[in-house]
Amino acid sequence: MENEKDCIFCKIAKGEVPSQKVYEDESVVAFKDLHPMAKVHVLVIPKGHYRDVGEIASADPGLLAHIVEVAGKIAKDKYDGSYRLVFNTGPDAGQTVFHAHAHVLTGECLAE
Ligand code: AMP
Ligand code: ZN
Repeated sequence: MENEKDCIFCKIAKGEVPSQKVYEDESVVAFKDLHPMAKVHVLVIPKGHYRDVGEIASADPGLLAHIVEVAGKIAKDKYDGSYRLVFNTGPDAGQTVFHAHAHVLTGECLAE
């Protein structure tokens, strides 16, 4: 598991690793997923390092609410406001990057 020092998403948040940013403010960054699973597939991450969504919920519920709000804004900007929000949490659920991130899937009618 990555520690904070060599965390790829911390580096993206700081601009040390390039990404295709679609939104940024003082607490979050949103950028296109490298391997899109929908016409629009954006990751919303907190700038601070949290291991997973549960850690954000415990430490800073307002930040989690803000991530949901930004997801909704992206879905309105890029589509009709419909979106699927996924937080893979833990290795057996498919989490591969241990810096919390919301997958925002939108841009088309999504399969169930
Ligand atoms: P997860 O499997 O839920 O941990 O999601 C990690 C996601 O990050 C995957 O969908 C990857 O395609 C994506 N990803 C990994 N590295 C990058 C990167 N440098 N830029 C954009 N997306 C990335
Ligand atoms: Zn990190």
